[in-house]
This record gives sequence, C-alpha cells and structure tokens, in this order.
Amino acid sequence: MEITFSGKRALVTGAGKGIGRATALALARCGSEVTAVTRTKADLDNLVQECPSVKPVCVDLSDWDATEQALKDVGPVDLLVNNAACAKLQPFLEVTPDQFDMSFNVNVKAALHVAQIVARGMKARGSGGSIVNISSQASQCALKDHAVYCATKGALDMLTRVMALELGPYQIRVNSVNPTVVMTEMGKIGWSDPEKAKSMTSRIPLGKFAEVEDVVNSILFLLSDKSAMTNGVILPVDGGFLAC
Ligand code: NDP
Repeated sequence: MEITFSGKRALVTGAGKGIGRATALALARCGSEVTAVTRTKADLDNLVQECPSVKPVCVDLSDWDATEQALKDVGPVDLLVNNAACAKLQPFLEVTPDQFDMSFNVNVKAALHVAQIVARGMKARGSGGSIVNISSQASQCALKDHAVYCATKGALDMLTRVMALELGPYQIRVNSVNPTVVMTEMGKIGWSDPEKAKSMTSRIPLGKFAEVEDVVNSILFLLSDKSAMTNGVILPVDGGFLAC
C-alpha cells in the first residue's frame, strides 16, 4: 500500500525529537509540505539541515498566547499530528501541582489549542482534513508512577472522540495512535532499567517494545485517505498489551 501526500500541508508538534521528528521526515518523504513545531531551536536547526523543505516554528506549546502568536501565520494545514508531550514520573503521593499543570498544558491543552487553530482553517476552506493525536497505552492501563501522564493521555483519548464527533461533519477526521514503550528520550526515562523493561515486555504478547517506525507507519495510515472512513478511533500500537 503506497501512501502519498503530494499537495498536502502537514503540521507536526514535538517534531524536534523521537516520534515527532521521524513523522515530520516521513511526511516530507511522502511529498507533504511540513511545518515542524517544537521548543528547542537546536533541534529545529538540525531537522532543517536534514530536510531543508521543513518550515520550523519554535514555541513552547505550554504557553497558550505564545502558541497563538507563533501559529497565526502558519497558513493552511491539511494534516495535523499532535505529538508533543512531557512525561515526568512521580509516585502518586508526591505529585506536585507544577507538574500536574505543565503536563496537562502540553499533553492536553496544547493539543486542543493547536487543533482548534488548524481545524478552524479546515472548516473555513471546506477542504476537510485529518488529525492524529499521539496518546499512549498509558491512557487505558495504570502504570506505576505515571498518575499524571496516564491522566493526560486518558483525557486526550476522550478529546479525540469528541473532536471526531464535532469535526466529522466538516470531513475532518480525528484519530489517536496509542503506542507501547518506544525507546526515544522519553521512553528511556521510564524503561532504561533492564528489570523494569522486562516487567513490561513480559506483558506484551509480541514480547518487545515498539520501534519509532511502527508508530510512524500507523500515523501515516490514519492521516492518509487509506483510512478515509476511520474516525474517532483509538489505535493501539502496543504488540497486544491492551488486549490482555
Ligand atoms: P520525546 O521526548 O523523544 O520528544 C518529544 C518532543 O516534544 C520533543 O521534541 C520535545 O521538545 C517536544 N515538546 C515537549 N514539550 C514541549 C513543549 N512544551 N513545547 C513544544 N514542544 C515540546 O518523546 P517521544 O517521541 O517518545 O514521544 C512522542 C509522543 O509519543 C508523545 O505524545 C508521547 O507521550 C507519546 N508516547 C511515547 C512513548 C514512548 O515510550 N516514547 C509511549 C507512548 C506514547 P524538547 O525536547 O525541547 O522538550
């Protein structure tokens, strides 16, 4: 199955590292114009060096007003990947208000905000579009020390469904991809310890973590017309973890 995005314009948040960076590059390879949004300028410089057609936008997405300002001239977008997130692990009894606010600001509020900005344009143009929110297996399964992260991803799953409901009439599809552990910088925070990693892989029927490419392929499918009738879906990319 060949997927092309010629003539499409994509925006990827959290495109400086990991899954977001790989998604931005894959979209560009498939012919899309790509706007890459992240907060570390060096990451954007590095991305543009590798793929000069990428348009960089440097902003801290936890800041609502700064995001509004940074994206006001972004132009039409057909494909949105809400990927940026933070994951700071804290035992439940030690969760701090700062960490709670930061996590919800980036993982949920920024996803809603960027989608509003993009979907308003899609609606006005009447051209439809596709939005993929990057959630996690943690949205549906309790993980130790992940109280806030799990809560943000649970909220994001429900946001995906309501967006699918309200934006569907404008032919804007909204779906989520929910990976198991991927050994990006974020993945390493929680799962570098081999004992801990084993405790997770032993619960995954395929017996391994996901690769970045596994996640990117599912994102591309949901962005593309190959999934033209798929809307409001929470798609695990977890080797069967959530099935058990
Ligand atoms: P990384 O930490 O490797 O990359 C996250 C990217 O998001 C970075 O470029 C980061 O920039 C950016 N970002 C974070 N906060 C902000 C912010 N406030 N403003 C702008 N950009 C920001 O994460 P992954 O690639 O692993 O994760 C991508 C997505 O996949 C996330 O939604 C994550 O929750 C999800 N996921 C990841 C899993 C994993 O095991 N890795 C498992 C399941 C889901 P900077 O580095 O400058 O902060």
